[in-house]
Amino acid sequence: MSTPSAGEFNAGPLSERDLENLRLAIAITRTSIQSGEGPFGAVMADPDGAVVMTQENTALAMRDHTKHAESLLASRFCHEYYDDPRFRAASTLYSSMEPCAMCMFTMFKAGIGRVVYGLSADRLYAVASRYGTWPRTLISSHECARLMSTPMTVQGPHLEDEAGAVLQEMQTMIKARLAQQAPGTKECERLRKEAADLDKESLS
Ligand SMILES: [Zn+2]
Repeated sequence: MSTPSAGEFNAGPLSERDLENLRLAIAITRTSIQSGEGPFGAVMADPDGAVVMTQENTALAMRDHTKHAESLLASRFCHEYYDDPRFRAASTLYSSMEPCAMCMFTMFKAGIGRVVYGLSADRLYAVASRYGTWPRTLISSHECARLMSTPMTVQGPHLEDEAGAVLQEMQTMIKARLAQQAPGTKECERLRKEAADLDKESLS
């Protein structure tokens, strides 16, 4: 079996519909950060590009670091369209950030044929050092696709500046919350650490 090159996975420009759906995933990220979650959001679109499902991050709410927006959405989508594998294979998941390996392989097992993402994982980790210190698999979404018996189409990064702007908004929001906290409390320390993590690198 020949190994496809990275270019094959990233081939082709995005359509207007793709850009709309990716922007929706980025907008959902804003809802995630408002509730204190990480800056992640995902959208599932059918073969015509119509949105069928959306998902915020819920790791904090569910006290479970495996509850990433992309894998949760892939599982929901597979359950809903279990009897229609061709529909699933022709559908696309849009993610505000580059999906991790766990999410990539969940999408693969869910039979989703294509993923489009915004900010690259490298840029996310460079901007928000907090995420770089979390346990992470050192394999990119494109590399994951190459390890699949039926490789998914992976397109990204796209709209990186728009996806990255959410991190700046997150920093502003954390600082505003910090200003309202009484000094010395546990919450104050947590927010101070979060703000410092985002300050370590330029957000511009
Ligand atoms: Zn993930």
